[in-house]
Amino acid sequence: MSYSIRPAVQRMRPYPPGRPIEEVQRELGLSDLVKLASNENPLGPSPRAVEAAKRAAETMNVYPDARSYRLRATLAERNGLTPDHVLLGCGSDEIIGILGDVFLEPGREMVMGDPSFIRYEAAAQVNGAKLVKVPLTADYRHDLPAMAAAVTPDTRMVFVANPNNPTGTIVSGQELEAFVDALPGHVLVVLDEAYFEFADGDEGHVDGLSLLRSGRRVAVLRTFSKAYGLAGIRVGFGFADPEVVQAFESARSPFDVNSLAQEAALAALDDVAHLAETVRSAKEGRRRIEDFLTGQGFEVIPSHANFVCFDTGGPAADLAQELLHQGVIVRPCTALGLPRHIRVSVGTPSEVDRFVQAVLTTTKGKVTA
Ligand code: PMP
Repeated sequence: MSYSIRPAVQRMRPYPPGRPIEEVQRELGLSDLVKLASNENPLGPSPRAVEAAKRAAETMNVYPDARSYRLRATLAERNGLTPDHVLLGCGSDEIIGILGDVFLEPGREMVMGDPSFIRYEAAAQVNGAKLVKVPLTADYRHDLPAMAAAVTPDTRMVFVANPNNPTGTIVSGQELEAFVDALPGHVLVVLDEAYFEFADGDEGHVDGLSLLRSGRRVAVLRTFSKAYGLAGIRVGFGFADPEVVQAFESARSPFDVNSLAQEAALAALDDVAHLAETVRSAKEGRRRIEDFLTGQGFEVIPSHANFVCFDTGGPAADLAQELLHQGVIVRPCTALGLPRHIRVSVGTPSEVDRFVQAVLTTTKGKVTA
């Protein structure tokens, strides 16, 4: 049988997720595994968010509030904007996809860094738009001047992940403002700040919302999946000009943020202590990992996120496999175009210990120790 799948979709591949613990357990027969592959919150969700989701579960026979009224209002208020600036979705993954639906089609172009977050590619590809990938600089940062030079009259969107995934690098506020100001008016810059909370306060880091508030053509994306610890319940959010939000509202499916997710997100926003501890612990853990790996002779990319990306000095898959046999799941960046790099998420202190011990046990650890 042959179906008329659109050629643009035939050329696409499914997203390669971090491997679930159960899958690796089954495969290797290991029981004590640590997953440091998906940049999740190792402290878990806020207990207040769990309680809120449980309460909301009682009414799961009823459709969610399609407008997410309270969550939208709260996000707007906390960020000094109005509810008609707020984007919400089933993870920022979905927001990225819908923005692609809103702005891209055959004959239009999208510019992104290389490597950067892989879902941007799908937003262009599924809409038949041309994907233009601009290599990062030698120090693994977005090359904003080169990205600006890659913009043509057909470009409609540029994605900048700040901090970037998988490298953890940032561009400065000055660089970003100069970049946005130099672009023609038909281009929307999407600043993906999924790891914002971990970079906030780092030297040179800018809150993308300051660009939006100053009237620049940007959309700023955030998520409850990382610092807020709600990856499993799927809520992403963002802020953009009301004209963009209106178009986004027309293109999205109505009940994409479910009722448990809306309540969990609201409760997570209120648990400022959990957020603060998450960020403190992630920054401490990332320094430990960076110092350890540097001490072992690995080239480490200084990170502003809750993960660390480093050059293994050989094929990333080899070291990743060795670590897997020690029960530590990390993410080789091979498929992302960094065939020698591994990205390791910052876990709890004891998970970081496990990672350190695992590296020391590998051949690489022995060679460089
Ligand atoms: N943007 C970036 C840069 C990411 O790394 C991720 C998660 N890996 C996302 C967006 C999507 O996050 P979520 O859909 O869970 O909000």
